[in-house]
Amino acid sequence: MMQKIAKDHPDQDITLRWSPGHEGVHGNEEADKQAKMAASGKQHNSCRSALPTFLRHGSLPLSISALKQAHHKDTHARWSRMWAESPRYTRLHQLDPLILKRSFIKLTTKFSKRLTGLLLSLRTRHVPLNLHLHRLGKSDSPRCPYCPTIDETVHHFLFDCSQYQRERHILACALGRQATSLPYLLAEAEATPHLTRYVNATRRFKPTFGEILMPALEPD
Ligand SMILES: [Zn+2]
Repeated sequence: MMQKIAKDHPDQDITLRWSPGHEGVHGNEEADKQAKMAASGKQHNSCRSALPTFLRHGSLPLSISALKQAHHKDTHARWSRMWAESPRYTRLHQLDPLILKRSFIKLTTKFSKRLTGLLLSLRTRHVPLNLHLHRLGKSDSPRCPYCPTIDETVHHFLFDCSQYQRERHILACALGRQATSLPYLLAEAEATPHLTRYVNATRRFKPTFGEILMPALEPD
């Protein structure tokens, strides 16, 4: 870049100098904190006589970004209070206390609705496998279609069913011992593409979810 600028503007003399940033400098950090508090309108500002002349009359200008930040914080606090009082909160909390934690929301932010739905289903056990379908009256039996004496649970589908040995082997090759950890498979971003591949390969959820687009694998 420097070479290009020098080539395009041979008549100009350019010098680069390094200068320290604000981070870690106590005075700068403190000034930044005070400025943000004042800009949000939540802190008493200096008395008017101590302000520069042009700021002594009328109300002080507020920072749009600080106002947005404060609004976002208030909205989130209000949402948290309303949600905690909702009748659905207790029920969902019993199913999976971690489901509405920030980590799960962060995990699924960039996922498709279909993939997020799959993860929610697996975590809450409200999943199109026979044990749950039977409870809903949508399957004649709670048993696994391939293992006539065993209920088709999430655990059986992921870890035990002999029908999916090949798919499970591929999962184990990718994730090692972690492939047998349900919390890991359902909550860790690096596991999701492999879990998605497993679910797609078994074709067990295809009638409900169709083919689920895999999230990109993180580079090594
Ligand atoms: Zn089975």
